[in-house]
Amino acid sequence: MKPSPISPTIDLDKNGAQHGHLRLPYSRDDSAWGSVMIPIAVVRNGDGPTALLTGGNHGDEYEGPLALFDLARTLDAEDVGGTVIIVPAMNYPAFRAATRTSPIDGGNLNRAFPGKPDGTVTEKIADYFQRELLPRADLVLDFHSGGKTLDFIPFCAAHILPDQALSARAFAAVEAFAAPWSMKMLEIDAVGMYDTAAEEMGKVFVTTELGGGGTATAATVRIARRGITNVLKHASILAGEIDRRPTRWLDMPSGDCFCFAEEDGLFETMVDLGGTVRHDQVVARIHPIGRTGVAPQEIRAKMDGILTARHFPGLVKAGDCASVIAVAG
Ligand SMILES: [Zn+2]
Repeated sequence: MKPSPISPTIDLDKNGAQHGHLRLPYSRDDSAWGSVMIPIAVVRNGDGPTALLTGGNHGDEYEGPLALFDLARTLDAEDVGGTVIIVPAMNYPAFRAATRTSPIDGGNLNRAFPGKPDGTVTEKIADYFQRELLPRADLVLDFHSGGKTLDFIPFCAAHILPDQALSARAFAAVEAFAAPWSMKMLEIDAVGMYDTAAEEMGKVFVTTELGGGGTATAATVRIARRGITNVLKHASILAGEIDRRPTRWLDMPSGDCFCFAEEDGLFETMVDLGGTVRHDQVVARIHPIGRTGVAPQEIRAKMDGILTARHFPGLVKAGDCASVIAVAG
């Protein structure tokens, strides 16, 4: 396979704290020989485990970038045993545009793995993570939240995998993260995900959904910061006691967790995040907006559980994910 066109401006193997970029050549109208400059920090202190910490996989999710730019600025190499690689905004063009996907090529980085060295900008970023960064990692912590179109209860998550030992190690890291909620997560479609790429390499992969709506709250950023420190302590990269907090485990046992809109209209959630839901309960309504006198579409829960996510903006389109329900685990 061709070499990656991406070159790091720092030596990924050097001891100490380094701040630089992953430079991706991108020739365009406003910059003939220009590049995309993806910020990266590497904090290394000798041999030991490597954690790869990432945010901005989707460009409109902010807890990860907030916590990771901050960590990169403050993490002292003397406090580290091993290596911490920090990429606060993986899909940097999307992050700069405050959009989920890249404004350059429309690429959703979290559906672009394993990527291509000679593909689109987004595919080139995926390929670099696939072939250069993921292989270095023992543990991967990738921050997500709902972006502009969803809002979540704050949870840390891992996937139930065929490799039960790997799954157990990931869930132990989720427990250490100590978010208010912890999830055994089911994906609508796991093909092309960064998660899947890491797990197929046998890496401990932990992710989050910490809020949404295209912003972050004081509470969700605090959860992200505490979670990073806890996970690094869990991995023995930082010393000290884990700040353990009570967490409530949730499970997504089947595709019945997801409710989708079948009409366009005005979205009304009938249950707030974290609320208890019964099978067949109306969890959301979609009010027609073209005329008066028409009854709303009712979206009913297909299982008992907890309202875990909801559509965020006031208006909804047919096919949008309206509500997500998870089961107390
Ligand atoms: Zn995301």
